[in-house]
Amino acid sequence: MTAVRLSGVSCVFDAGGKPVRAVDGVDLAIEAGEFFTLLGPSGSGKTTCLRMIGGFQMPSAGAILIDGEDVSRRPPFQRPVNTVFQDYALFPHMTIAENVAYGLMVRGVDKATRTKRAAELLDLVRLPGIGERRPMQLSGGQRQRVALARALINEPKVLLLDEPLGALDLKLREQMQGELKRLQRQLGITFVFVTHDQHEALSMSDRIGVFNLGRLEQVATPAELYSRPRTRFVAEFVGSANVLHGEIARRHGGAAAVMIRPELVRVGGAADARASGTLAEVQYFGAYWRLCVDLAGGERLIADLPVATHAEAPPPGTTLHLHWPDGAVHVIGDGGAA
Ligand code: ADP
Ligand code: MG
Repeated sequence: MTAVRLSGVSCVFDAGGKPVRAVDGVDLAIEAGEFFTLLGPSGSGKTTCLRMIGGFQMPSAGAILIDGEDVSRRPPFQRPVNTVFQDYALFPHMTIAENVAYGLMVRGVDKATRTKRAAELLDLVRLPGIGERRPMQLSGGQRQRVALARALINEPKVLLLDEPLGALDLKLREQMQGELKRLQRQLGITFVFVTHDQHEALSMSDRIGVFNLGRLEQVATPAELYSRPRTRFVAEFVGSANVLHGEIARRHGGAAAVMIRPELVRVGGAADARASGTLAEVQYFGAYWRLCVDLAGGERLIADLPVATHAEAPPPGTTLHLHWPDGAVHVIGDGGAA
């Protein structure tokens, strides 16, 4: 069952007389119950896409269907969706319980029911007993949970989340990633989640759509996206990638470009080495050493060596022989054009 469908959706803005194609011909089907992430760099069209699903922005072309119904011309409040914004947008003058129950109040639900439901939702996001406080009296992480409870109280079929964890520090963000995932599983609601953070996308999503310049470059599961990126852009945006055009690419059926992930490259003996070169730079990342190796053919290859097996890194200038398993080389479909 498809929860959200975008058919040929574009959005063109007029930026001072010059048209900006914020979203450009996007076709996408998000399944019911899926945790779907729109991933891409700043300005790639993620927010515009989400706003069109939510009804805050009209598409210039194309149609948006939710649960099989064309909602393209409907205002936000007539769509079975709700949105969590990055800045939470809580009402400062209302109590937490009133904030959470806001959606019910607008619909004319009686006070007793509102109070009961608000308490249930605060339990759900693990903030029991704070209903009488004001937003000012909460930490950033707590405010984020309140915003989530408020968005969930109307039981939307689809929850839209625009970089909801962007304002939190790393530890809290990782904790909230787990919480969001737990909630999504527990409630079975379709989540459409926007982030520019590839780690967040990989660790949370059932599937990911990668945006570049308003277009969807690839839609795939995290593992597929990481191991078989369709384009150079995806290869380099999702994780670190060696994209090679020279001798190593030619050995793979004369491919124009291939990709090798740095963690699959090993340092070993000269016999059977796939490539050899001079170590140009070494960086320490705690869990691994990043070695930048200048190959004889003029290309540079990055190898990440785990600190668990390599207590020391070789010094720059060392000649290194590089190895990788057969399956490590992935041919890039678009020929790796930058
Ligand atoms: P993202 O969320 O991926 O950072 P956005 O969807 O916010 O990207 O923006 C995509 C592009 O559209 C950017 O070039 C941005 O400057 C432009 N844009 C977004 N909203 C407007 C607007 N209201 N008017 C003009 N240009 C806009
Ligand atoms: Mg955005």
